[in-house]
Amino acid sequence: MDEPRDLSWILNHLGEDRSQQRGAVAPPIYQTSNFCFPNVAAMRVALADELQHPFYTRGNNPTVELLRRKLAALEGAEDCLVFGSGSAAIAAAVIQVVKTGDEVVCVSKPYTWTRKLLSLLMPRLGVTTHFVHARDVREIKAKLRENTSMIVLESPNSLTFEQQDLSAIAQLARDRQIVSLCDNSFASPLHQSPLAHGIDLVAHSGTKYINGHSDVVVGVLCGSAARIRDVFRGPYMTLGAILSPHDAWLVLRGLRTLPVRMRQTAETSTQVIDFLRAHPRVARVFWPHAPEEPQAALTARQLRAPSGLMSIQLRNPQHVETFCDRLQRFLLACSWGGYESLAMPILESSKSASFQGAADGLPAGLVRLSIGLEDASVLIEDLRQALDALSD
Ligand SMILES: *Cc1c(COP(=O)(O)O)cnc(C)c1O
Repeated sequence: MDEPRDLSWILNHLGEDRSQQRGAVAPPIYQTSNFCFPNVAAMRVALADELQHPFYTRGNNPTVELLRRKLAALEGAEDCLVFGSGSAAIAAAVIQVVKTGDEVVCVSKPYTWTRKLLSLLMPRLGVTTHFVHARDVREIKAKLRENTSMIVLESPNSLTFEQQDLSAIAQLARDRQIVSLCDNSFASPLHQSPLAHGIDLVAHSGTKYINGHSDVVVGVLCGSAARIRDVFRGPYMTLGAILSPHDAWLVLRGLRTLPVRMRQTAETSTQVIDFLRAHPRVARVFWPHAPEEPQAALTARQLRAPSGLMSIQLRNPQHVETFCDRLQRFLLACSWGGYESLAMPILESSKSASFQGAADGLPAGLVRLSIGLEDASVLIEDLRQALDALSD
């Protein structure tokens, strides 16, 4: 089919079959666990390829498939699977690729549960992981062995936003038949395309920008048709960490406004960063688009526009708790990428068991901010009153 591929066509038209749904503009929710057939022959056809044909909702469901098609197109991928969480998407990819005796190289300080998957769960299955900073591709190269089967990246990472050179690492992986995966949650499919750099698999926590409304937990995995089919037949169907049709519908609704939300967030974040960089109680901002960013060349090469997740380091680390407690408009909460602005005191919250490990090597006094869709002036005023109230 000769189809246009611009962004609004993908979001408004791709996969929508309105003539089959009595003209309804919004797609129906196929809230069904199973599908029936007129005869055994038709049943046999569906059962032979559960990725393509609705048979049972743990496999294919039309509402979920509509979301998959749009996300694949946004990532420039042949196919895509969606999961009940971003963590499930990453775990499914790893479980599909590695086997007992293999090694994985992973960027240091990945998302907490990516780290736990690789440092706690996979070792029980005989898979060892080396965590490396990976600002320089040679750090990865130095850890590659005969039995390395996977490289797991997160660029930028979601606490201090270090980036990895995706093209160089993809090349290194290809040459040795190692499968590469990049967690692309920070950038969203709109601002960075790891597959175009040669990376094999892209994962997202769709909970963040893709859904954007803080009401669904969802994961995304994109790649070639063959790789996605392998994941589908393996961990996707056996672990069953699927997204429900109703949640898929909510994510479709969130996705419609992704470009508008990303544009607004980029604009507001730039203003907020300008304010924070100039404030005497802020020692440092962490944001790939800040003027002092040490990896500015990579930012220019890999990221098309700014996202709204950033960290600030307070000059006096003792002030983190007071600063956070004084914020009125920023909500104190984990997660990010929604319509609402959030603050997360990194080391303070890391004193809880579930955050251990993620905090290794992080500077003291770090507060992560997720910029939502409020007016920049409202957010800056809130940050100003909370910072100004701190003693020196
Ligand atoms: C939140 C997050 C995840 C995990 O996604 P869930 O949807 O919460 O399971 C993975 N990677 C990054 C960078 C995240 O921020």
